[in-house]
Amino acid sequence: MQDILRTIPSVDQLLLRAQADLELPACQRQILVDAIRKIIESTRREILAGAKADVTLSRLLQLVEKEVQLLTGRNLKQVINAAGIIIHTGLGRAPLSSRAKTAVEAAMAGYSALEFDLQQGIRGERNKIVEEKLCALTGAEAALVVNNNAAAVLLVLSTLAAGQEVIISRGQLVEIGGAFRIPEVLRQSGACLVEVGTTNRTHMADYAEAITPQTAGIMKVHTSNYRIVGFAAQPEDAQLVELAKERSLISINDLGSGTLLPLEINGYQEQSVSEAVNAGFDIITFSGDKLLGGGQAGIILGKEKYLNQLKKNHLLRALRMDKLCLAALEGTLQDYIIGGAETEVPVQYMLRIKLEELQKRAVNLTKMLSPLIQFGWKVETIELRSWAGGGALPAVELQGYGVCLCAKQIGLNASRLEKFFRERQLPIIVRIHNDKIVIDVRCLMSGDENEIFAACQEAGKEIAE
Ligand SMILES: *Cc1c(COP(=O)(O)O)cnc(C)c1O
Repeated sequence: MQDILRTIPSVDQLLLRAQADLELPACQRQILVDAIRKIIESTRREILAGAKADVTLSRLLQLVEKEVQLLTGRNLKQVINAAGIIIHTGLGRAPLSSRAKTAVEAAMAGYSALEFDLQQGIRGERNKIVEEKLCALTGAEAALVVNNNAAAVLLVLSTLAAGQEVIISRGQLVEIGGAFRIPEVLRQSGACLVEVGTTNRTHMADYAEAITPQTAGIMKVHTSNYRIVGFAAQPEDAQLVELAKERSLISINDLGSGTLLPLEINGYQEQSVSEAVNAGFDIITFSGDKLLGGGQAGIILGKEKYLNQLKKNHLLRALRMDKLCLAALEGTLQDYIIGGAETEVPVQYMLRIKLEELQKRAVNLTKMLSPLIQFGWKVETIELRSWAGGGALPAVELQGYGVCLCAKQIGLNASRLEKFFRERQLPIIVRIHNDKIVIDVRCLMSGDENEIFAACQEAGKEIAE
């Protein structure tokens, strides 16, 4: 073992060879030295553990190269969404509108009046940047923005219900991906959850009977990623709001996604934010990067007297939005105010693309990929289903089109091809269906088609080698 350990090159040796032989990306010398130390150390450990480690210079240099590439490269890679899930949390949710992008660029390049009142020349509030716009768009009395909707719910409950009870239907004890669970958030906020009704049915009487002197409010939660169908019932919003008002309780509605535009797909209607405001809820919360189509944000709308309380909570300092997300939100809200958000805001556009348009795109992509056929690929336009994702329109399948790819004949089965697409420099995220690759055209951005063709060529080349 000692003999093997002695054959490991020294840090200096590896450093010289790395600098001479490898085409390393630019990096600080110390980063390279540390990477070499790390590789040597892990190789030593492997040997000491009795494993047969490859200690050849070329192998160690390869590991060093990989380590340096990992450190100098970008992990937050841009990807192509060919999976057909519009609001995909794994893929960063909403792509920004061009107005939002411009706003972010302007905010990040230099200084901005983030918390500076330009009229009076005194310290201002960052919330003021979007508050009037949000109120104008929704009809709410007041608005407050925080980091995300989870933070919004936490702030609302901690401020208005800590140490008291909040009544929620058993059918709405939601878990959103990434461990956001309504009962947990309530616990975190110091509020006490009172569950009423059953999984499928909750009635007004259930809410009314659960009210005690300790009750702070009644909360409705959007069942973002599931639907209870069949023998199911929930009270109307107006009834909940009325009961809360009668008993001097706060009515809260966590809308989840929150669409500013009316949205109806396949006969399923997503409640818009203004509809929730009109229903009279005291507090409404929703995300900025789901159906709204902006950057990460949590938006709280509601009655001024409650919002004033939220604005005074010191927790807000920990939950406040950063200026880039705020710029993205304001840019997106401008799209809604100026008009044309249906086409300007990518998420809203992708939800509304006409079937004929999708078909046209899929046929075009099929044509573009058809040179692959002579090399043994199968390329076909297909009908398919896409999803809104992001806790919106749960269980609503969007009819769409795509291209189905099969390269089995040249020795590339679907899972290998999927992996190839996923691991390339500009990754392409696809679906697999019936052992074939499915490219959904709905979420493709301009230029993505060329990349998909290039990726197929690369895959073919690799298999030929
Ligand atoms: C998505 C969602 C949340 C969490 O929102 P984030 O902006 O991701 O923090 C909370 N509640 C509901 C109902 C949701 O759909």
